[in-house]
Amino acid sequence: MFSIHGTGIGGGIVIGRARVLESRQRDVPRYRLGPAQLESELSRLETAIEVVRAELFALAEHLPADGPAEARALLDVHAMILDDPALAQAARDAMREHLWNAEWAFSAQAGHLAAQFDEFEDEYLRERGRDVQQVAERVIRVLSGSTAGSKVGAETAIFVAEDISPADMLSLRSAIGFGIDLGGTTSHTAILARSMNVPAVVGLGHASRLVLDDDWLILDGEAGLVIVAPDETVLAEYRHRQAAGELERERLKRLLHVPTATVDGVKVGLFANIERPEEAERALAAGAEGVGLFRTEFLFMNRRDLPDEDEQFEAYRAAVAAMQGRPVTIRTLDVGADKAVPALGGTAPQNPALGQRAIRYCLAEPQVFLMQLRAILRASAFGNARLLLPMLAHSHEIDQALRLVDLAKGQLRGRGLAFDERLPVGGMIEVPAAAITAGLFVRKLDFLSIGTNDLIQYTLAIDRSDHEVASLYEPFHPAVLRLIGMTIRTARKAGTPVAVCGEMAGDWAATRLLLGMGLTEFSMHPASLLRVKQEILRADASKLAPRVSRLLTSDDPLRVRALLARLVEDA
Ligand code: PEP
Ligand code: MG
Repeated sequence: MFSIHGTGIGGGIVIGRARVLESRQRDVPRYRLGPAQLESELSRLETAIEVVRAELFALAEHLPADGPAEARALLDVHAMILDDPALAQAARDAMREHLWNAEWAFSAQAGHLAAQFDEFEDEYLRERGRDVQQVAERVIRVLSGSTAGSKVGAETAIFVAEDISPADMLSLRSAIGFGIDLGGTTSHTAILARSMNVPAVVGLGHASRLVLDDDWLILDGEAGLVIVAPDETVLAEYRHRQAAGELERERLKRLLHVPTATVDGVKVGLFANIERPEEAERALAAGAEGVGLFRTEFLFMNRRDLPDEDEQFEAYRAAVAAMQGRPVTIRTLDVGADKAVPALGGTAPQNPALGQRAIRYCLAEPQVFLMQLRAILRASAFGNARLLLPMLAHSHEIDQALRLVDLAKGQLRGRGLAFDERLPVGGMIEVPAAAITAGLFVRKLDFLSIGTNDLIQYTLAIDRSDHEVASLYEPFHPAVLRLIGMTIRTARKAGTPVAVCGEMAGDWAATRLLLGMGLTEFSMHPASLLRVKQEILRADASKLAPRVSRLLTSDDPLRVRALLARLVEDA
């Protein structure tokens, strides 16, 4: 028995037999062609590319209606890479120039291209190099005459691989878990695993070489752990944990229609974070009272062009309509840092998280911003929309953004298009400067939403996507808690609605703390809603308030941790 540690993507615990998928690129056949063989080798490559294109198309065509919303977009990205001249044309050129066989030329070119992505500081862009390698693997697999997942039977298994492309992931229908050597939490593979709700661990290093076919595995998607060939005691322990987890999820479903309020009658609003309009329905089914954060930048990612006003309008309208009159908080473009949008171009900044991202970008590119504002305003005629501005730090940023909202309204009036004249405009509090001067924000804006993910990053000076400093990313640092507490207090005093929409809102271990600070609006991944609801139903806000006030006066992280643990235990 031994264990391998990686990064958990979620999905719970799974126990099963391993299926290890080989990496076709490791043993790529390399030989030189005779000049007379070149033409037939070129057409062999053409056929392989055609086959892969057809495979990707067939997968997209046969996606189940209730399948993950991201799947189609990910397949499109791979089809795009397949057609990219920097890959296919360059491989043909290399074949002509060096008389390399097709596998050799294609894998070499994919290697070059992926290496260029590796140069990026930005984690998201680095991960795109994996997409290139995955497409190349698919082509090489066809060239070598084998079919995708040929050793995959119908029996369920935990798939272990150096990497798995989103397309392969979708075709591995018997998968009950994924253990992957490469990748981080923002890899497409991770994103897809999360939305398929299959337990997965990425960044496992050399798992695909250490694990053997048919090994028994325990994969813990929460803890980011794979235990290989567990002994009976460990197996029994994890079987118990797994059963308890499943029972808990079933039990929580009973809370779906229970109104959300604390024991002492404080009503709490539970909202969902979504990335695509299709997720609105899932949010509704999970019991969300609305969308607290629609991260619109996902509409702009993984494509070469920008979505125009009509395309954006359709997406926002779809989300607003799906929520049937419930509020849908649409956040304007939060690009930059870990969320790259190739269509917006620009050079890689020195320090992306501190550079021209989010509202800074939008104010510098008012035409892009105005187009989005018009699309959001138009969608507001179809339901209950709200507009949310990310990354604000300065008073003049709010003023400028509000002036542009007015300008967009004027443009729509000129075109005779309907919109909600009183569309509420809110601001995200995710920079310490904004939390400290929240008094100014409540005077200018209709509501606030605290983005704890960035607030932690900027308060502690820890890049949230850098795994080397991940252990210093501490949500419960006294400074972070004080900034959150201050913001909530200021907003409540002014009568301005305030929510938390960062990951902390979905962490049930933080629910009592936030309730004790006076928070009554939480927005999170739909999967966390019921667990947080359970905490709220058991909590007494009036008793929590003085305990949390005391906790917030301490500078001592250990004491804060201890007080926090007691808050959670005293259920
Ligand atoms: C946050 O920063 O907490 C937040 C919700 O925004 P994002 O995670 O999209 O940066
Ligand atoms: Mg943020």
